[in-house]
Amino acid sequence: MNIPFNKPFIIGKELFNIAQSVIDGHLSGDGVFTQKCHDWLENHLHCRRAMLTHSCTAALEMSAILCDIQPGDEVILPSFTFVSTANAFVLRGATPVFIDIRPDTLNLNEQLVESAITEKTKAVVPVHYAGVGCEMDTLMAIAKQYNLYVIEDAAQAILSEYHGQKLGTIGHLGCLSFHETKNVMSGEGGALLINDEKFIQRAEIIREKGTNRSRFFRGEVDKYTWVDMGSSYLPSELIGAFLYAQLEHAEVITQERIRICQQYRILLSPLQEAGYIQLPTQIGNGHLFYILTRSLPERTELIQFLKQYHIYTVFHYIPLHSSPAGQKYDRVSGSLSVTDNVSDTILRLPVHYGIKSHEVEVVVDRIQTFYNELTLRTSSV
Ligand SMILES: *Cc1c(COP(=O)(O)O)cnc(C)c1O
Repeated sequence: MNIPFNKPFIIGKELFNIAQSVIDGHLSGDGVFTQKCHDWLENHLHCRRAMLTHSCTAALEMSAILCDIQPGDEVILPSFTFVSTANAFVLRGATPVFIDIRPDTLNLNEQLVESAITEKTKAVVPVHYAGVGCEMDTLMAIAKQYNLYVIEDAAQAILSEYHGQKLGTIGHLGCLSFHETKNVMSGEGGALLINDEKFIQRAEIIREKGTNRSRFFRGEVDKYTWVDMGSSYLPSELIGAFLYAQLEHAEVITQERIRICQQYRILLSPLQEAGYIQLPTQIGNGHLFYILTRSLPERTELIQFLKQYHIYTVFHYIPLHSSPAGQKYDRVSGSLSVTDNVSDTILRLPVHYGIKSHEVEVVVDRIQTFYNELTLRTSSV
């Protein structure tokens, strides 16, 4: 048996929709399916406006431009995240300021934000790790007091909630990912969620190469022209066609992933009780399931052990503050000991739509065997 870490899937009319858009003869951006995706996101997540982008990375870059991030500005974010969370701001000449994460959710520790603020701070970027919400009430209150923007990196968090609000719709801006490793996917893909109305018009322009083409197509201006800085951030209609089919089944996909994560949590709890591993405290939207091992060498051994049985597990992230680019661009605020420790010991188990219950059982059995053998080995010396 081969249990891959991730497996892209189709669930509904993905290929039919793509054929439809080819037959309709509209393949560039902002056609019928892209509009359907925008409507779906606005209706199901309750943001003011949603705009598809090529990726979450692109949505983060648009956010940095919209917030007028300038060279020398500072942006507060966790070091335990994907590179794009920082890169989007580094591209504008800003300095990422890294703070530590909470040991329970692995989200940025909201208690550490205030001490990282300087007169150069412009924004805070909470990352909802594993689709579990950051402490948004605290973060929004701090942002208001210090006049900062909040840009949610909700790449992993589609349909997850914090106090009844969908993640990505609480800050000024939110960014989703539809990369093939995320819950809902289109290969590459993303969306910018705009919650503060003042950004809508400029976002349309930035996304359309700095032109007012969107207004032209609505008949609001009689020609379109270059009006602001911008780039090409809108995806092909083929992406929208594929994505819309996935969005139609987003609830089903989420429920299935949550079920898989819960199964892992129940089956692995004896190993947690025995003190071998630590399990997540919350499942979120079932985006991922991880265990924390007791040490880096133990994790390395476990990965190798599982690989023998064709079970593929992965770890992330190399903390950004210890990466070569991070050291060139960043500033660190306070100790990052939780970040360092978690990135040495975290292991992500296979979670994908379509993984079978008995496959989850096999993964857990093998992990159990690993710790049984480890105990035998250490008690015999
Ligand atoms: C996946 C991911 C991204 C990047 O998403 P892309 O769509 O691949 O650009 C950014 N941040 C986090 C936290 C992610 O998990």
